[in-house]
Amino acid sequence: MDQNSGKIQKDLEFVRETLRTAELYHSATAIIGFDRETICPKKAMAAEGEVSAFLGSQAFRLTKSDEFIKAAENLYQNRDLLDELDRVMAVQLHRRYSKVRNITPEMNYEDSLIRSRAYENWLNGKRSADFSVFAPSLREVRDMFLRNDRLREEHSGDPYDDFLDDHERGVTQADLDEWFGRFKERMIPLMGKILKSGKRIRTDFLSRTVTDEQQRKMARYILQVLHYDFDRGTFATTEHPFTNSLGRDDVRITTNYKPNQFTANIYTVAHEGGHALFEQLQPREHLEHFIDSGKTSGMHESVSRFYENVIGRSPEFISLIFPKAKEIFAEQLSDVTERELYEGVNTVTPTLVRTEADEFTYTFHIILRYELEKEIVNGRCGIEDLPGMWNRKYREYLGIEPTNDREGILQDVHWTFAFGYFPTYALGNMYNAMYYNRMKEEFDVPAAVLAGDFGKINGWMAENVFRRADLIPPKQWIREICGRDFTPDDYISYLEKKYGAIYEI
Ligand SMILES: [Zn+2]
Repeated sequence: MDQNSGKIQKDLEFVRETLRTAELYHSATAIIGFDRETICPKKAMAAEGEVSAFLGSQAFRLTKSDEFIKAAENLYQNRDLLDELDRVMAVQLHRRYSKVRNITPEMNYEDSLIRSRAYENWLNGKRSADFSVFAPSLREVRDMFLRNDRLREEHSGDPYDDFLDDHERGVTQADLDEWFGRFKERMIPLMGKILKSGKRIRTDFLSRTVTDEQQRKMARYILQVLHYDFDRGTFATTEHPFTNSLGRDDVRITTNYKPNQFTANIYTVAHEGGHALFEQLQPREHLEHFIDSGKTSGMHESVSRFYENVIGRSPEFISLIFPKAKEIFAEQLSDVTERELYEGVNTVTPTLVRTEADEFTYTFHIILRYELEKEIVNGRCGIEDLPGMWNRKYREYLGIEPTNDREGILQDVHWTFAFGYFPTYALGNMYNAMYYNRMKEEFDVPAAVLAGDFGKINGWMAENVFRRADLIPPKQWIREICGRDFTPDDYISYLEKKYGAIYEI
């Protein structure tokens, strides 16, 4: 062994050991986080928060020490000598550090104050439905992002492209302008046709009152159908549903029981269940090499939305779960047919609020946020002009307009902490339409859904969609799964076919 390889080996062991310890702290904070969001007593929240902050800071200290960063950087410099998974680890760590190394602890502290002030102003602005309360903070957050971008060791020269790259590696504005432009060109006219169609869809039964006990049974049943592994996970209720991964063997989900919206629980569970399957079925060695956070947000959303929409809102899935739904919601569904349930969960209704959007209108909500945040970051428009632009775009894309800023530009919290994140939601839909088509070349997917054969579906997902997600950027990932380059056309055709049939146009 020469001196260099001895040093590499030593650094590798040190980095692994440190990450393993940091991982223990993270697992502990994740358990506390889950507890706080679900069953933690009100008066215990502060104490639990303190424990969590302490553990988090321990992990932070370990992975921000000069010694650790030096070792990690040495691995990066010598990455060609490493095994594949160690190389990926070194690259991931380098990506992380090259962004923040020039940010001093003082700047970091200042940034956290800006963020928390922004959150407060956003909340107050939302409460009073007044964008001008949040506007100064939005400017401040934007300027903070731009300053930190200038301090990066590596950048593309365009800040917004850098922010996009943080969330969806290798995707640029030029890509999104083209993909989203194509989507709008074909989907805005279809939206108009749907709204003008004479088709009447029955929705009265969707708001019938159900009990928490019925919803809990349904949630468990849906997870069983999807082959979610209850020996390595559990579920609870919370205000804003999420999936919490503490490694491959403890992936917990949460849902929310709205008494007059029983299908919201079904699709929340299918969505979070999709996120959970991605975590439960990922290669074990990725966790052992600490590279399991390599999956992008767009990849993760593609999987959750695959189970929620492509599978979950298909006629075969409704047919599969209909008998059980009739049993659990016996009274509420007594006069409802399978077809009516299918059409009911696929009704297209333009709404002002993103989180309440149906499958068809959802992407419009995302595209207009993308178009605005690009302007914010590039400084081409005044911050004060944003609410007007927001409202005009809602009118143009969805034919409706907010009456105030609460149901308009202030509805989402994202601009208090991130730019470039929203587009990943729309990309997720576009990715899964592509791999769904690829999957159908291998076997009859609707027949497998109808038969409840999720072993087959999840097996294909694990082998093709999950296996390499941590290792490669999204464009390459799609190319490897599908054998062709990314295009929004699969998703556009999927929507045209599905909603054309439902609305008979
Ligand atoms: Zn999600």
